[in-house]
Amino acid sequence: MQSETKRFASFCGEPTESGCVEWQGSLDPNGYGAFKYCGKKMGAHRVALMMAGIEAPVGLDVCHTCDNRKCVNIDHLFVGSRSENMQDALSKGRLPLTPGAWPYSKIHDMTDAKLIEAYRSQGSIKRAAKSVHVSKEKLVARLRQAGAF
Ligand SMILES: [Zn+2]
Repeated sequence: MQSETKRFASFCGEPTESGCVEWQGSLDPNGYGAFKYCGKKMGAHRVALMMAGIEAPVGLDVCHTCDNRKCVNIDHLFVGSRSENMQDALSKGRLPLTPGAWPYSKIHDMTDAKLIEAYRSQGSIKRAAKSVHVSKEKLVARLRQAGAF
C-alpha cells in the first residue's frame, strides 16, 4: 500500500496555475489518467480519492470540477452519479442536448436534505453549488428557506 502511494505520487505533476495536478502517467482512451492499483487498472483520479480515504461507491463516477481529465487534485474531484457526470459534460458542451432529456440537477428537483448535505460535506457554498450544479445564489436562497443557516 505504501509503495502504491509512492508510485502514484511519482506520476503527479507540479500543480498548474489553476491548481490542477496533472497525471504524468499513461492515459486511458478517454483522456483520464490510468493507474494500476494493486494490480487492477483504475482511473488515476479515482485512486487519488481512494488514497485520501474516499471510496467512490460502485456505479458512481468521480467527476472533475476543473474539467481537466488528467487532474488528480482531490480538491478538484467529487463523487457524482453517472447522470451528474453526464449533466456536467452536458453543461460543458460535451454531449448533444436533447430537449426534455435532461430532468436532473434542477434545484427544485433536489431535496432540502440533499442540498444541506452538499453544503455541509463541501464546507463552502461555492463548492457545494458546484457539486450539485446550481448557482451559488440559488443554493443560498434554498438553504435559507430550508433553515440551514
Ligand atoms: Zn484540476
